Amino acid sequence: MAEPLVVVQDVQKHYGDFHALKDVNLTVDKGEVVVVIGPSGSGKSTLCRTINRLETITSGTIMIDGKELPKEGKGLAELRAEVGMVFQSFNLFAHLTILENVTLGPMKVRGMKKADAEKEAQALLDRVGVGHQASKLPAQLSGGQQQRVAIARALAMHPKVMLFDEPTSALDPEMINEVLDVMISLAKEGMTMIVVTHEMGFARKAANRVVFMADGQIVEEATPEEFFTHPKSDRAKDFLSKLI
Ligand code: ADP
Ligand code: MG
Repeated sequence: MAEPLVVVQDVQKHYGDFHALKDVNLTVDKGEVVVVIGPSGSGKSTLCRTINRLETITSGTIMIDGKELPKEGKGLAELRAEVGMVFQSFNLFAHLTILENVTLGPMKVRGMKKADAEKEAQALLDRVGVGHQASKLPAQLSGGQQQRVAIARALAMHPKVMLFDEPTSALDPEMINEVLDVMISLAKEGMTMIVVTHEMGFARKAANRVVFMADGQIVEEATPEEFFTHPKSDRAKDFLSKLI
């Protein structure tokens, strides 16, 4: 039985007069991998940021595992920890070592002891293939390695769902696959994932569903096979013709 994990209901988001999300409804089940695709400015990042409450919503509800995200205050940090987020730009702390980048959240938010946090962080860094870099600073790593550290850092919070916002867009081409391979293995292990990406190979290999956004709306949803071979809307057809 499908169990909903992320439920976005009737969400509207305005930036001043600008209507960035128009009545967005999206349910992501436990273990499901959803790829969000669409032209620049269509609201993909805004959707991710509202799910993680980095942005407040104008109206509607967002639930994670049956609990509504509070708008602010107590409980927000804990609930936010359930939603791991990986950005295009890695956002590692430049003055902290790789290991410290991964242990910081677990020690501060999850209250883990340093030794335990370090043991778990090292295991996660090994898992994403950068365990040997643990004592280095982010700037000493390649972009692909830094992004894998960012994934380990998010996983260290034991999130229920992982959001990826164009995780490979800032990478040199030869580093894209090393990041996508980590994401594919996470998907295979059953992680619930929402991934904004234009990497069709990833979508075909790992996604259960593709969600196409344009102008702040979800225009269509389909399996990757259906969407890439038989897009329904003119906007999706137009978008795909420019992507290839
Ligand atoms: P995408 O990720 O699909 O490229 P975004 O979610 O970043 O799109 O942006 C959607 C629209 O919202 C864009 O037109 C963008 O200019 C606008 N927007 C995003 N963030 C802000 C903001 N902080 N203030 C005003 N407008 C914004
Ligand atoms: Mg974006």
